[in-house]
Amino acid sequence: MKKTKLKSGKIRAVYPGSFDPVTRGHIDVAKRAISVFDEVVIAVINNPSKKTRFSVAERISMLKKSLVREGLGKVKVDSFEGLLVHYMKTIKAGIIVRGLRAVSDFEYEFQMALMNRALAPDIETVFFMTDAKYAYLSSSIVKEVASLGGDVSSAVPPSAAAQLKKNR
Ligand code: ADP
Repeated sequence: MKKTKLKSGKIRAVYPGSFDPVTRGHIDVAKRAISVFDEVVIAVINNPSKKTRFSVAERISMLKKSLVREGLGKVKVDSFEGLLVHYMKTIKAGIIVRGLRAVSDFEYEFQMALMNRALAPDIETVFFMTDAKYAYLSSSIVKEVASLGGDVSSAVPPSAAAQLKKNR
């Protein structure tokens, strides 16, 4: 029997990603995840060798504001360095949440899910399909459009739209 549950019987899931910045697609996945699992922790990857537009603190702040605004205050936000499965063991989480947009996401997600399974057989990866209206959204396209002066308010929560405008 797998140990994906806590001793209390509850299931703690982790939704890891760069969230550079959070988009409405990420929020949609978080909403679906918290409707299924007892606890969801959005875990911002702190990878000093990867260049990001926003600092970890800024990414966390945008996420927290967006979650509260969406009535998802129950979803926690944290950050981690190093291997995801090591972080998950320290907080006793048993499920990795990832979002799927299109077939193009599949290959990379499949590879990562199998690698994480090889590293930690007790941890399961679960995928949520985003709402079709967010299927084309990514943090990178949002950054590109915003840097060219485009309006991204339909793609990202207000806290991220404001930061993108400031950091142009
Ligand atoms: P990473 O750098 O790990 O790809 P991201 O912050 O881009 O992190 O994304 C984190 C997760 O959210 C990934 O599983 C990704 O597929 C998913 N995701 C990103 N954008 C969307 C979206 N618009 N709809 C649903 N899932 C998404």
